[in-house]
Amino acid sequence: MRISVDHKKLEPFSKNHVTFYLKYSSFVFKALKKPSFQKFLRWMLKKEKIDEHSVSAVQVKVLPFRRANGNIVAGKCNTARGRIRIYPKTMQFCQIFKQKFGLSTLLAYAGNRARAALIHELLHLKYAEDEKTVRELAKDYFCVFTQKQCTQNARSLFIYKMIFNAKISGKKSPPNGSNHQSTKPQLNETCLRASGVFK
Ligand SMILES: [Zn+2]
Repeated sequence: MRISVDHKKLEPFSKNHVTFYLKYSSFVFKALKKPSFQKFLRWMLKKEKIDEHSVSAVQVKVLPFRRANGNIVAGKCNTARGRIRIYPKTMQFCQIFKQKFGLSTLLAYAGNRARAALIHELLHLKYAEDEKTVRELAKDYFCVFTQKQCTQNARSLFIYKMIFNAKISGKKSPPNGSNHQSTKPQLNETCLRASGVFK
């Protein structure tokens, strides 16, 4: 895993932007590198029978990627090459978010969004174009990871909703080895890749 920066592309940006995006990417890099998360990913790959070696590269991109429709993409996966890219939110988004919810919530959101994106893209290695399955499993796995990490408090629930753009009904408990879902998020069609209250 590495931070991937195209210095040419940074040129048109102001010093403020460049500093912001470099900081963001190194924060995300650390979040993804965390031993507890790496351990979780290895467990997930094993459970899904995805060969670790089919992942050739994970790149943390410094600049956001915007689709033609204007949506900001969280991650991309080249399944043929096993190459995964994780993208940041825009600086503008982060500024608004920070004003509304504070820095610590922003950091928790940015780290978890990147984790969710990596989970999602890794699942694409197995489920390829089956976006629906990938989204559902990614949510389950993300819940497994976060519930191990922190107690379900208002903030983690809020972040979950932000990331998956989902409404949750009923009681939450981690999925238990099977496809059984006790969490039934009412999915709206947009998800991680076009997530967010703010675009
Ligand atoms: Zn996808």
